[in-house]
Amino acid sequence: MVEKCPSKELFKKPMHPYTRALLSAIPSVEIHNPNKREILQGELTSPIDPAPGCRFAARCKYATEACRQPQKLEEVEPNHFVSCCGVRELNDISK
Ligand code: SF4
Repeated sequence: MVEKCPSKELFKKPMHPYTRALLSAIPSVEIHNPNKREILQGELTSPIDPAPGCRFAARCKYATEACRQPQKLEEVEPNHFVSCCGVRELNDISK
């Protein structure tokens, strides 16, 4: 699990890079304002021998050395939990 919050909040303000990529893949009926689809690059992590740290790191454009450490769900806003060491920086959230 990479992100947990009420569904309305998730669609309004997704914080994890993977959540954002998933939501960007939702087809839009808006002809003049289509979703900006985020195409992920890189390889899927092997479920048999996963790399240490964030399971999304091989496909995350924000990955750093810190992402090699195990990630845990942290409450970054009230009732909004995200598993990403870079989430505050990516979303302009102060600690
Ligand atoms: S922990 Fe690192 S690799 Fe994983 S989603 Fe966050 S920035 Fe990307």
